[in-house]
Amino acid sequence: MRIAVISDVHGNLEALEVVLRDVEAWGAEEVWCLGDTVGYGPDPEACVHQVRSAARLIIPGNHDYAVLGRISVDDFNPEARKAILWTREQLSQESLAFLGGLPERRIEGDFTLVHGSPRHPIWEYVLSLSAAVENFAYFDTKYCLIGHSHIPLFFQMPDDGHCWGGAIDAGTKLPLSEGRWILNPGSVGQPRDSDPRASYARLDTDQLSWELVRLPYPVEKTQAKMREAGLPERLIARIAFGW
Ligand code: ZN
Repeated sequence: MRIAVISDVHGNLEALEVVLRDVEAWGAEEVWCLGDTVGYGPDPEACVHQVRSAARLIIPGNHDYAVLGRISVDDFNPEARKAILWTREQLSQESLAFLGGLPERRIEGDFTLVHGSPRHPIWEYVLSLSAAVENFAYFDTKYCLIGHSHIPLFFQMPDDGHCWGGAIDAGTKLPLSEGRWILNPGSVGQPRDSDPRASYARLDTDQLSWELVRLPYPVEKTQAKMREAGLPERLIARIAFGW
């Protein structure tokens, strides 16, 4: 099966639309979304609608939870906090209820889906080899799909137990045959690996492969909407640079 794995849309409709067009052109049979559909970007309500209609599996992230009031906005930096409070005002009751009803962890066949890490689904970042090694003990499936860091990454635990991993560039196709894996498709709406292009992954469960795709989108259009909404200047600037 062809599955498009997206994460961290963060209210960026221009990036999401470019990704969903590519997902359709690729012939994806399913879309899975790893959380943080809202927060930071200027179109949270439209993004919830698009993700709801495109994705079969959706889990919540820390920004979704902060918008819902499930975690404190004081745990975020001032700009992120401002965007969260603004986002809260933009979402319909229906979208808030939808985000509030999502499970923090989903298991689908050989795959565990969480936003942050299998150990702490909402908050933990898995960026280092040591964090990955520890987290392999917190899921039972062969694969764990994560988001949250906004950086496309893989970690493989081969049968001999020597974990390795690192960042993934556009066009990289990993064969997923041996061992267990933690995989991050990067962020659709706010990449942080110095590449501003929207990021997602094509998971082929027949071929057993994971391919990273990067797509340019009209960043200036998203920035103009953010400026109009009065969102913090630092958040507007960062999406042009991918940090
Ligand atoms: Zn995020």
